Amino acid sequence: MADNITLTMIKPDAVRDGHTGAILDMITKAGFKVKALKLKQLSAEDARKFYAVHKDRPFYDSLVSYMTSGPIVAAILVKENAVEAFRNFIGATNPQEAKEGTIRKLFGLSLESNAVHGSDSDENAIIEGSFHFTPAEQY
Ligand code: UDP
Ligand code: MG
Repeated sequence: MADNITLTMIKPDAVRDGHTGAILDMITKAGFKVKALKLKQLSAEDARKFYAVHKDRPFYDSLVSYMTSGPIVAAILVKENAVEAFRNFIGATNPQEAKEGTIRKLFGLSLESNAVHGSDSDENAIIEGSFHFTPAEQY
């Protein structure tokens, strides 16, 4: 089967707390290949657009504030069945419900500040990858 991509962001709390290196190390040791990578400060407009699917949810404004509270690390990752493999690897949205050894269990602070993003479908992975990276930034 051909490799697929997924888009991750190491979220502001995890970057601020110095976990970027440890998280990238876990990601690459788990067999995900890095196709694109950058440290980036999201504007409120960026965060609103990225999470537009959640715009009617009660947590939307708080999520936008959180995601703009400091720089994030965005990456496009490549692996067979990347979307599902990465979501299994990072664990449940709520770190308290995430399995032992997952990134959200290890580094997540709360339901909102849950350390990392992972795309939810192949289609959205492509949209989210293009949101963060031009074609020339993808290797
Ligand atoms: N989130 C939140 N409260 C909720 C659900 C989600 O603050 O009740 C935040 C959390 O940071 C999550 C993001 O919104 O990662 C996007 O939510 P989604 O349901 O898409 O979860 P994910 O796909 O990130 O697991
Ligand atoms: Mg989601």
